[in-house]
Amino acid sequence: MDNCLFCKIVRKEIPSTIVYEDEEIVAFKDINPIAPVHILVIPKKHFDSIKDIKEEDISLIGRIHLVINKIAKEQGVAESGYRVVTNSGRDSGQEVMHLHFHIIGGKVLGNKICQ
Ligand code: 5GP
Ligand code: ZN
Repeated sequence: MDNCLFCKIVRKEIPSTIVYEDEEIVAFKDINPIAPVHILVIPKKHFDSIKDIKEEDISLIGRIHLVINKIAKEQGVAESGYRVVTNSGRDSGQEVMHLHFHIIGGKVLGNKICQ
């Protein structure tokens, strides 16, 4: 997608601090972190959000969660705990329309996921 911000990050047209990359997935630090650990994990393939996922994408989406597991260990939050958040669509407040999974941790997050 030509004008998609995260597609531009995938193509390295926009700089980012990448913490993981393979043929299908890239993970980078959120530009405006809300916690000491705030990483975005994205498929390189463009999906607007979860609504676009199809049967053929099951293994990619599954593998993203293995990558989340690996990054959480590397970032030192696997034992202390962390939150994985995916916004999807208008009411969620999704700002960037390229499917992404937030990994948020490194502090006590509390038990509310929604204020
Ligand atoms: P959303 O609200 O769509 O779930 O989250 C989008 C996230 O992308 C936000 O946490 C925001 O800080 C982050 N973000 C927006 N623009 C950029 C950017 O250019 N680079 C990086 N690394 N993160 C960005
Ligand atoms: Zn995109």
